[in-house]
Amino acid sequence: MNLRRSSVSERNDVEIWFDCNACKTAGTISPSKAPKFKKNIRVLGIVFAALSFLGFAMGVLIILSAGVSSFIAPLSEKSPEAAGQVLALTLVVLFGVGCCVIAIVCGFLGWLFLLRKKVYKCAKCGFTFDRT
Ligand SMILES: [Zn+2]
Repeated sequence: MNLRRSSVSERNDVEIWFDCNACKTAGTISPSKAPKFKKNIRVLGIVFAALSFLGFAMGVLIILSAGVSSFIAPLSEKSPEAAGQVLALTLVVLFGVGCCVIAIVCGFLGWLFLLRKKVYKCAKCGFTFDRT
Protein backbone atom coordinates (compact mmCIF):
# COMPACT_ATOMS: atom_id res chain seq x y z
CA MET A 1 0.00 0.00 0.00
CA ASN A 2 1.51 3.25 -1.10
CA LEU A 3 0.58 5.95 1.39
CA ARG A 4 1.00 9.62 0.87
CA ARG A 5 0.66 11.94 3.82
CA SER A 6 -2.22 14.26 3.19
CA SER A 7 -1.98 17.99 3.52
CA VAL A 8 -4.80 17.65 6.07
CA SER A 9 -2.31 16.08 8.50
CA GLU A 10 -0.56 19.39 8.93
CA ARG A 11 -3.54 20.62 10.92
CA ASN A 12 -3.51 17.60 13.21
CA ASP A 13 -0.43 16.73 15.25
CA VAL A 14 -1.90 13.78 17.13
CA GLU A 15 -3.44 11.59 14.45
CA ILE A 16 -1.92 10.76 11.11
CA TRP A 17 -4.38 11.13 8.27
CA PHE A 18 -3.86 9.61 4.86
CA ASP A 19 -5.56 9.88 1.54
CA CYS A 20 -7.85 6.96 0.77
CA ASN A 21 -6.82 4.84 -2.18
CA ALA A 22 -10.21 3.19 -2.43
CA CYS A 23 -12.48 6.20 -2.76
CA LYS A 24 -9.76 8.70 -3.76
CA THR A 25 -10.61 11.18 -1.02
CA ALA A 26 -7.88 13.22 0.61
CA GLY A 27 -7.24 12.81 4.33
CA THR A 28 -10.08 10.49 5.26
CA ILE A 29 -7.93 7.62 6.60
CA SER A 30 -7.12 7.66 10.31
CA PRO A 31 -5.87 5.14 12.89
CA SER A 32 -8.73 3.06 14.24
CA LYS A 33 -9.54 -0.33 15.70
CA ALA A 34 -11.45 -3.14 14.05
CA PRO A 35 -12.50 -6.62 15.20
CA LYS A 36 -9.81 -9.20 14.44
CA PHE A 37 -12.23 -11.94 13.43
CA LYS A 38 -15.31 -12.31 11.28
CA LYS A 39 -18.78 -11.71 12.66
CA ASN A 40 -19.72 -15.36 13.28
CA ILE A 41 -16.52 -15.94 15.28
CA ARG A 42 -17.23 -12.81 17.34
CA VAL A 43 -20.75 -14.12 18.04
CA LEU A 44 -19.09 -17.36 19.21
CA GLY A 45 -16.84 -15.25 21.42
CA ILE A 46 -19.85 -13.58 23.04
CA VAL A 47 -21.47 -17.01 23.56
CA PHE A 48 -18.24 -18.29 25.13
CA ALA A 49 -18.03 -15.25 27.40
CA ALA A 50 -21.66 -15.72 28.50
CA LEU A 51 -21.12 -19.45 29.11
CA SER A 52 -17.97 -18.60 31.03
CA PHE A 53 -19.88 -16.19 33.27
CA LEU A 54 -22.69 -18.72 33.88
CA GLY A 55 -20.22 -21.57 34.44
CA PHE A 56 -18.20 -19.56 36.92
CA ALA A 57 -21.34 -18.49 38.82
CA MET A 58 -22.50 -22.13 38.89
CA GLY A 59 -19.12 -23.38 40.10
CA VAL A 60 -18.99 -20.80 42.90
CA LEU A 61 -22.59 -21.64 43.93
CA ILE A 62 -21.77 -25.37 44.01
CA ILE A 63 -18.69 -24.79 46.18
CA LEU A 64 -20.61 -22.42 48.47
CA SER A 65 -23.54 -24.83 48.88
CA ALA A 66 -21.12 -27.65 49.68
CA GLY A 67 -19.45 -25.42 52.25
CA VAL A 68 -22.79 -24.39 53.76
CA SER A 69 -24.06 -27.99 53.98
CA SER A 70 -20.86 -29.12 55.72
CA PHE A 71 -21.26 -26.18 58.11
CA ILE A 72 -24.90 -27.05 58.91
CA ALA A 73 -24.13 -30.75 59.44
CA PRO A 74 -20.57 -31.13 60.75
CA LEU A 75 -19.21 -34.56 59.92
CA SER A 76 -17.27 -35.39 63.03
CA GLU A 77 -18.42 -38.98 63.63
CA LYS A 78 -16.21 -41.67 62.19
CA SER A 79 -19.03 -43.76 60.79
CA PRO A 80 -19.02 -45.24 57.26
CA GLU A 81 -21.98 -42.99 56.54
CA ALA A 82 -20.01 -39.85 57.44
CA ALA A 83 -17.09 -41.00 55.32
CA GLY A 84 -19.46 -41.40 52.36
CA GLN A 85 -20.81 -37.92 52.95
CA VAL A 86 -17.29 -36.48 53.08
CA LEU A 87 -16.50 -38.23 49.80
CA ALA A 88 -19.71 -36.91 48.20
CA LEU A 89 -18.97 -33.41 49.45
CA THR A 90 -15.40 -33.58 48.13
CA LEU A 91 -16.70 -34.68 44.74
CA VAL A 92 -19.18 -31.81 44.72
CA VAL A 93 -16.44 -29.30 45.56
CA LEU A 94 -14.18 -30.80 42.85
CA PHE A 95 -17.07 -30.52 40.39
CA GLY A 96 -17.51 -26.87 41.35
CA VAL A 97 -13.79 -26.19 40.95
CA GLY A 98 -13.91 -27.98 37.57
CA CYS A 99 -16.79 -25.73 36.50
CA CYS A 100 -14.76 -22.65 37.44
CA VAL A 101 -11.67 -23.88 35.56
CA ILE A 102 -13.69 -24.66 32.40
CA ALA A 103 -15.39 -21.27 32.75
CA ILE A 104 -12.03 -19.48 32.91
CA VAL A 105 -10.83 -21.34 29.78
CA CYS A 106 -14.12 -20.49 27.99
CA GLY A 107 -13.78 -16.87 29.02
CA PHE A 108 -10.22 -16.72 27.71
CA LEU A 109 -11.30 -18.22 24.36
CA GLY A 110 -14.21 -15.78 24.18
CA TRP A 111 -11.85 -12.91 24.88
CA LEU A 112 -9.49 -14.14 22.11
CA PHE A 113 -12.38 -14.28 19.64
CA LEU A 114 -13.38 -10.72 20.51
CA LEU A 115 -9.89 -9.22 20.15
CA ARG A 116 -9.54 -6.09 18.09
CA LYS A 117 -6.65 -5.15 15.87
CA LYS A 118 -5.14 -1.84 14.94
CA VAL A 119 -6.13 -0.66 11.48
CA TYR A 120 -6.30 2.42 9.36
CA LYS A 121 -9.86 3.20 8.44
CA CYS A 122 -11.37 5.53 5.88
CA ALA A 123 -14.07 7.70 7.43
CA LYS A 124 -15.85 8.02 4.09
CA CYS A 125 -15.98 4.57 2.50
CA GLY A 126 -15.04 2.37 5.49
CA PHE A 127 -12.01 0.92 3.73
CA THR A 128 -9.57 -0.62 6.27
CA PHE A 129 -6.11 -2.13 6.22
CA ASP A 130 -3.75 -3.43 8.90
CA ARG A 131 -1.69 -1.00 10.93
CA THR A 132 1.50 -2.93 11.70
ZN1 LIG B 1 -12.24 5.81 1.36
